[in-house]
Amino acid sequence: MELSTSMVMDKIYLVSLGCAKNLVDSEVIQGTLVTSGYTLTRDKEAAEIIIVNTCAFIEEATREAISTILELSEQKRVGACRYLVVCGCLPQRYKEALLQELPEVDLFLGTGEFQHIAQHLKTLKQGHYKSKVFTARPTYLLNPGTPRILATPGYTAYVKIAEGCSHHCTYCIIPEIRGPHKSRSPQSIAAEVKNLAARGVREINLIAQDTTYYGLDSSCGSGLAGLLKKLVKIPDIRWIRLLYCHPHNLTEELISILAGKQTVCNYLDLPLQHISDPVLKRMGRRTTTTQIQELLQMIRSRVPAIALRTTLMVGFPGETEKDFAQLRSFVQTFAFEHLGIFRYRDEEGTAACKLTPKVPEGVKEERYHDIMTLQSGISRKKNRRRAGQRIEVLVEGASSSPKYALQGRAAFQAPEVDGVIFIEKGKASAGSFVKVRITKGLTYDLVGEIV
Ligand code: SF4
Repeated sequence: MELSTSMVMDKIYLVSLGCAKNLVDSEVIQGTLVTSGYTLTRDKEAAEIIIVNTCAFIEEATREAISTILELSEQKRVGACRYLVVCGCLPQRYKEALLQELPEVDLFLGTGEFQHIAQHLKTLKQGHYKSKVFTARPTYLLNPGTPRILATPGYTAYVKIAEGCSHHCTYCIIPEIRGPHKSRSPQSIAAEVKNLAARGVREINLIAQDTTYYGLDSSCGSGLAGLLKKLVKIPDIRWIRLLYCHPHNLTEELISILAGKQTVCNYLDLPLQHISDPVLKRMGRRTTTTQIQELLQMIRSRVPAIALRTTLMVGFPGETEKDFAQLRSFVQTFAFEHLGIFRYRDEEGTAACKLTPKVPEGVKEERYHDIMTLQSGISRKKNRRRAGQRIEVLVEGASSSPKYALQGRAAFQAPEVDGVIFIEKGKASAGSFVKVRITKGLTYDLVGEIV
């Protein structure tokens, strides 16, 4: 996603890569720079400073970050760019090793430095830096006074309720990059949500590396359930959505809130990764087959209208035919509304790198496509069943498909990751809520008309 930011004398162009959590950091970088006198540009050729806020969670993201940096470094030759700055996970993960790889970069700022970006740029421009790499351990937590320029449309925002992660999934480098879990106070989050509501935001998507761990690291109220009870009282917020919920700390109280509070979307993003006990154990997931199945049964019975999203991984070291068959049957039985699937890759520095036997690449591919095909059938069937339903839709504006004028999302569709509702009849402005009658279910999207 491209964001845009220029100082009175320096124009800044910013590219944000990776997940919604990184996007919030990019929004803070923009806010901090504009507050410090910089202005924004969408024109990379006109920018004197180019910033790339990177993701390096997996090898693929690292490759994308490096190719984006190399491509933008061309602007030092052909454009107005004088400084190229790389922030976020890539420098935090690879530190000084990047100096040789990317000599065209003037400054590397890790995940513990983005809030000091204005000071870093000032020192850089004064030519006072002896070092190019700053990767202090991340300790900063957002507060309601943190300057932030939303990169999302004005009616929706991500709210980061915590930083870091205290789990130790064996395949994951994030705790190394982001440090242990640190929750913000409920007062700080509520004040931020009130500010966002006053700016016209109607949909809040709560995010963290693990949202259900919220409050477990400190004495900040009564965890995620307590936070939600506070947030639902904020006027003008119509939808609150929970993303990134590790199943280990998903409580009955939280499920009751999902069932009972209208403002909390009947939607849960529950990354499960696998279902077979031996694989879950080797992944260090702190969950078992039985716990996951019981949890899902409880959620489905207490909140029948819930839309569940999960993320799974195939080809983890030691995943046998039997483990995969169990995963396949689990996907078929529990029929998730939304499902994302990854092929396992060794990530340097993780415990899973040392695990054997490795699953051959060809087998991973087969397993990946098998689950994708299975899920597309499930999704299509579920979407077709929605034909005739009248659904509240948040209008996003012009449709990405030339066949339809407008598009929007229902409470069961998170921004960016899930499908959308194409609107074939009726008029409405972006950010408004309308009733839509579903006329057709596609594989991942729906079609409907405003009633
Ligand atoms: S819960 Fe596991 S996969 Fe998610 S960020 Fe933490 S360590 Fe990584």
